[in-house]
Amino acid sequence: MKVGIIGLGLIGGSLGLDLRDRGHTILGVSRKESTCQQAEATGAVDQANTNLSLLSAANIIFICTPIGLISNTLEQLKPYISQETIVTDVGSVKTPIVESCETLWTNFIGGHPMAGTAKQGIEAAQKNLFKNAPYVITPTQNSPKNSIKTLEEIAKSLGSIVYTCSPENHDKAVAWISHLPVMVSASLITACLHEEDPLVLKLAHKLASSGFKDTSRVGGGNPELGLMMAQYNRTALLRSLIAYRQQLDEVIEQINTQEWESLNKRLETTQKGRSHFIKDNFE
Ligand code: NAP
Repeated sequence: MKVGIIGLGLIGGSLGLDLRDRGHTILGVSRKESTCQQAEATGAVDQANTNLSLLSAANIIFICTPIGLISNTLEQLKPYISQETIVTDVGSVKTPIVESCETLWTNFIGGHPMAGTAKQGIEAAQKNLFKNAPYVITPTQNSPKNSIKTLEEIAKSLGSIVYTCSPENHDKAVAWISHLPVMVSASLITACLHEEDPLVLKLAHKLASSGFKDTSRVGGGNPELGLMMAQYNRTALLRSLIAYRQQLDEVIEQINTQEWESLNKRLETTQKGRSHFIKDNFE
């Protein structure tokens, strides 16, 4: 199959490395000429340049640009491709992307390979990034069945575990397990930074260890990513944040009124509940 990839960064480059290994011909397009050259040199693509016309022969095209550019990129791509060309994306938020891209291209299927590292760009691309990771496909009633099947087969060939759901349910679920934790963790760091007594703050800096390391990790990451989650998954993130605030209010009330039994019940429930989200192979 001829596979097109637009945006040769961490995700686009990693897809290219694996799909090329599976015997596909990879045609890449990126913004910078130097990125295209590097993608060719590292074997992420067979051929790459900065012109979307390169993709006219592709059977399926993965748009792997930053989220805010995905539908614009599809708009620019349209003149070069035929109706049979399947277009998909890898954006971490699905509802706004699927809504705009489906109106632009009837053969569009939304997707989200849920793998990544803290690094960016073609130099961060690596083989087997998607192995054993979820690959969420978010078709709608308008999505052509054969195209869904093709995308599923490609995702499985990467070693990914394929899940299918609506764009809205995807966004609600990732709000719980990815976007809410970032905002909670960021708020935790901000609250600590607001300690007014400089001596206590200095001591806290010194004493912070593994517990703080775990709970602050996702809030101490790339600000651009957190902003992107809030901007593009605003509705689902607000829904989760409001529910979280309710939980926090209840905890404050239980501690303030010394309802130790209810607090204990809550902590017993969370001790058991965590295992539904985090399996034994993760720590
Ligand atoms: P990235 O490493 O920054 O790669 C994006 C690449 O897009 C850049 O390297 C840039 O290449 C290229 N680009 C920017 N503007 C472009 C344009 N107008 N036309 C063509 N190429 C353009 O970012 P990423 O982490 O791979 O993320 C890409 C997408 O994957 C995002 O939509 C994100 O939501 C999704 N995603 C990310 C992760 C993650 O953990 N990182 C996980 C799953 C999904 P140049 O060097 O040519 O400028």
